[in-house]
Amino acid sequence: MKTVAVTKVGRLADPDEDARGTVEVIDFPRQPLGPEDVRIRIAYSSICGSDPHVAEGFFRRDVPFGLGHEVSGVIVELGERTTRSGLSVGDRVACNFLKFCGVCRPCLDGRQQFCENLRNEYRRPGMSEEVVWHESQVYRLPDSVSLLEGCLLEPTSIAVRIADKARIRVGDRVAVCGGGPIGQLALQVLKMSGATSLTMIEPIAERREIALATGAEHVIDPIAEDQAARADEITDGRGYDLVVDASGSPRAVRGLLDLATKGGTVVYGAMYPHDYELPLNLAEYLYQRELTLTGVFVAPYAFPRAMQILPHLELAELTRAVFPLEDAAEAFQVHLSGKHPKVVLKCNDLDDLDLQ
Ligand SMILES: [Zn+2]
Ligand SMILES: [Zn+2]
Repeated sequence: MKTVAVTKVGRLADPDEDARGTVEVIDFPRQPLGPEDVRIRIAYSSICGSDPHVAEGFFRRDVPFGLGHEVSGVIVELGERTTRSGLSVGDRVACNFLKFCGVCRPCLDGRQQFCENLRNEYRRPGMSEEVVWHESQVYRLPDSVSLLEGCLLEPTSIAVRIADKARIRVGDRVAVCGGGPIGQLALQVLKMSGATSLTMIEPIAERREIALATGAEHVIDPIAEDQAARADEITDGRGYDLVVDASGSPRAVRGLLDLATKGGTVVYGAMYPHDYELPLNLAEYLYQRELTLTGVFVAPYAFPRAMQILPHLELAELTRAVFPLEDAAEAFQVHLSGKHPKVVLKCNDLDDLDLQ
């Protein structure tokens, strides 16, 4: 079974060839189908901003290990005890790559993202010809969502959780920093939630254009413009009620606290380098300004709502760059170039099923 795997840990863009990480397509054994499992032939699997970090060894795993957690596909086989979920062979689906155990203390306490039994046999890679996951991980796609769009369910779930953590109120002034897929999706979700003065902060012109076409009222180029002055201009000197970071960039997050209004919220909705520490003056930002700072790890509970809004999102710009599974190494290079906000792998040709 062809699967995209990290065969050497390292930075994928490292100029030193000896240190550079390697992603390639290798053969993995077919996974067994347990009684509550679902076998899915993968249609599309998109590259996540986190994948290069995983290849760098963020989670410290032994090579080779497979990649891929943003998938859509078609059910080809059901375990004998899967009737509870109402799934059928032939269903078009998208998935949550995490299987929460449901019985550990964090799971019982409503904090499934901290499930103590995640490192189990269900950690299976989605950039593959097929995957076997537990029925609790599988969601049926509505007819109006194509398989290509469906692979964006997982990143959409993160955008939904960002809105949850932000506790946005209708009319809040909102800035999003970083116009990658999570930033673009978060922008659209926050717009739906009543965001005003909606601003995308992003150095790449094409990504600012995408944001303007999908709901941003303002854009700021943080390199060519004075970010704080522009934010003042847009918010009449008051600052934003909500600032979301979706850039994951230590350089970009530095100035964000100063964009928030007194009593405002800053959501760090990205993956950050292990060793980065944000300077934070407690007297100023937490005592005098009463800012709320929060973050997002993964998105339990957000999948059903992500599926509800998927048909209402503008996804064309996030589904333009599609590569065959075999060309995964090239697709990763295109992802790293930043040319497209999202790069998608086509793992099987299942699109005509969309016409049914
Ligand atoms: Zn992802
Ligand atoms: Zn658990």
